[in-house]
Amino acid sequence: MSNTLAENNHTLSMNDIVSLCKRRGFIFQSSDIYGGLQGVYDYGPLGIELKNNLKNAWWRSMVYERDDIEGLDSSIIAHRLTLKHSGHEDTFTDPMVDCKECKARMREDLIKDGKCENCGSSNLTDPRMFNLMFKANFGPVENDDSFIYLRPETAQGIFTNFKNVLDSTSRKIPFGIAQIGKAFRNEITPRNFIFRVREFEQMELEFFVEPGTDEEWHDKWVQERYHWWIRQGLNKKNLKLEHQDKNELAHYAKATVDILYEFPHGAEELEGIANRTDFDLGSHSKNQEDLNLWAKVQPNQDSNQKLVAQDNQKQNSYVPYVIEPSAGLDRGVLAILAEGFTKEKLENGTERIVLKLKPHLAPIKAAVIPLAKNNEQIVQKAKEITRTLAKLGLGRIRYEDVGNVGKAYRRNDEVGTPFCITVDFDTFEGDTETVTIRHRDTMIQERITVSELPETIVKYYNID
Ligand code: ATP
Repeated sequence: MSNTLAENNHTLSMNDIVSLCKRRGFIFQSSDIYGGLQGVYDYGPLGIELKNNLKNAWWRSMVYERDDIEGLDSSIIAHRLTLKHSGHEDTFTDPMVDCKECKARMREDLIKDGKCENCGSSNLTDPRMFNLMFKANFGPVENDDSFIYLRPETAQGIFTNFKNVLDSTSRKIPFGIAQIGKAFRNEITPRNFIFRVREFEQMELEFFVEPGTDEEWHDKWVQERYHWWIRQGLNKKNLKLEHQDKNELAHYAKATVDILYEFPHGAEELEGIANRTDFDLGSHSKNQEDLNLWAKVQPNQDSNQKLVAQDNQKQNSYVPYVIEPSAGLDRGVLAILAEGFTKEKLENGTERIVLKLKPHLAPIKAAVIPLAKNNEQIVQKAKEITRTLAKLGLGRIRYEDVGNVGKAYRRNDEVGTPFCITVDFDTFEGDTETVTIRHRDTMIQERITVSELPETIVKYYNID
């Protein structure tokens, strides 16, 4: 029986999430012991599990459950010319202003009422455009030409590999290339925990289509991605589709629809689905002659590719259009944590925090608790069950022998473990061995046989 009185009657603050993440080992400030690097975070033992689970769910839906998408893992270090011809060198900028009073720096477009967000002064400089790309020196010679960029989006690695993938897989348009990986942006004002950071991961699909079919594909992908987030557990009432105005569009886009999520700090972009037209492939095709510029530091560069596909009759070649669903993995993790975070008052007057994650996303799939830590028979059985369940390949199964069973339940509720399995003295009573299985959300406990456990657990891990 559930002993919940009131469910989620609590207003969520970002601090609730930040403190849970630190306390339980999801996410830490990077370089914490040296005072921290602003806008850079590390994922701890539970955070990496949650993040990997979300990545895997995306990869499964993109690459394994369809037959028109190939995977890729391209380099983080990007050729300077790639980012020149993608338009990023000239246009990937944000307007920055300085406060003349307190010297704080901020993004002009995020300032409210023309006042410094740090001290409230209106004495601000005129905006200057600031390029968000990180530069790094490449190779042993340090001079003005020998730098590369850390990619600001994973997409360009997909475009520059377009021909490689097309030729090696014999794909025909329409088809897509999916990639998950790090991207770097030197944000002027990183903020809101892992929402706006300088190092993050993206889950990006570039889906290549015939010109003229692009608008239809764009609509399809918007719907597909919106429903995917709902399948990950996000509530419809916290999601919104927003069409970007023409003046907001990125330099490459003909139309963009953003999926907004109601984060603790407000409704903001979780994923953008852009119609990038033939901008990128076209630009990389046209600009091959510019490779001479790079030849100063990289001799023997080839420059012979036209990034085109052939029509079905193999008569003409054309530059495909691209539909791009681009999701932030870190923003996804934040949304999933915010959605799942729940405070409940219990009948006995206490409160519990429970992270209501879908089982396929939970960092720990089940915790196995020996009721008596000094009883050899109970301990051995609990360890044996842990090993058996671990072999199912669902993810982490935790053997939990710290503190009493009540504390173990609370600890696991807080990190979203869907089930706790308790081995006790009754396990060995009767003809068959039994355990108690306790469900995280309802706190209902049932008695089942040990042999039924694997099958019972597996059936909860289906995504839908
Ligand atoms: P924003 O307007 O919030 O700066 P954007 O429109 O520049 O985002 P895109 O270039 O469309 O973002 O990038 C695709 C996705 O990558 C975004 O939907 C977001 O989830 C993620 N993303 C972009 N910038 C960041 C960042 N600084 N930190 C974390 N995730 C980011």
